[in-house]
Amino acid sequence: MLGWIYDVTQLDSVYSKKLYNLVRPQYTSVVCSGHSGSTLLSLCLNMQSDIAVFGEFETLPKRIRRMRGETDGLCSFHKESCAVINTAEIKVLARLYGGQESWYRSILRGLMHPYYIFHYRRLRSVKIIVDSSKSVRWASQVWRRYRWIFDQRFIILHRDPRGVVASFIRRGETANEQIRHRAQCWSEEQRQIRALITRLPRLRYHQVFYEKLASNPELEVRRICRFMDVEFSRELLEFEEGEHHIIGGNAGTRARIGKRAGKRINSNRSDIGYYLEQSNPIFLDERWKQDLTLGQKRLIESTCRSEMHRLGYLVET
Ligand SMILES: [Zn+2]
Repeated sequence: MLGWIYDVTQLDSVYSKKLYNLVRPQYTSVVCSGHSGSTLLSLCLNMQSDIAVFGEFETLPKRIRRMRGETDGLCSFHKESCAVINTAEIKVLARLYGGQESWYRSILRGLMHPYYIFHYRRLRSVKIIVDSSKSVRWASQVWRRYRWIFDQRFIILHRDPRGVVASFIRRGETANEQIRHRAQCWSEEQRQIRALITRLPRLRYHQVFYEKLASNPELEVRRICRFMDVEFSRELLEFEEGEHHIIGGNAGTRARIGKRAGKRINSNRSDIGYYLEQSNPIFLDERWKQDLTLGQKRLIESTCRSEMHRLGYLVET
């Protein structure tokens, strides 16, 4: 039995990618550290008519447990008034992903995850589901368990650790210990990403740098579309025009879409104004260059030095 499963997973190297993938639905995992631009990427992809970005599957159990009755919603854009992830859909999700953690729950979730993916594809009438959970652990787990069910692909998104850690500093994590901790997390996540891609066939993953995505979105999104075998159009970059039903994501980017739809912005983030005042929906956020003190830069760079070198980020201190 195990041998048979192994043979099936090796089909990638035997048949052409396209032929084998005809029978498996595409499932694309976005993998990155937090605050690396995954919301921006998700919104662009969600504009493609063959794609539905579901959001963060991995955080579903926690989100469902946190819900206060049926008046709460899961869609980060429409909350309880969402027409797609509505009360009926939340019930399905709660049955599959909710409840207290136990061995029974984790087995059920493991078995039912593919079922939900097929269900959600039908519901949204799309070919491709994008899982923007970000975590290496979760994306690897899906790969280990379901690569014979899904045509799973990985979009690996990197961002300069100084930009990532500066986002946490803006949220109040200003103590050196907290900064070091966030920098260590970034380094560890980059190491895990390296370990993941060494296990993957080359055709399965595509690496993107946030700085390139934000400064030259057309070129980068075109490349991503080629990787996902979908058509590119300029509309993908005009994501503020679209309707999104995504679970999780950056509140600042969401606020721009909310404002456009005439909604009141409800967020405890102090830098929402920064997102709202940008003239273009896609912009390069390099506030870290002004915001970080020399000491903070030094702390982050000394912690992340080797991974920064590997990715080509220049160390300044
Ligand atoms: Zn919605």
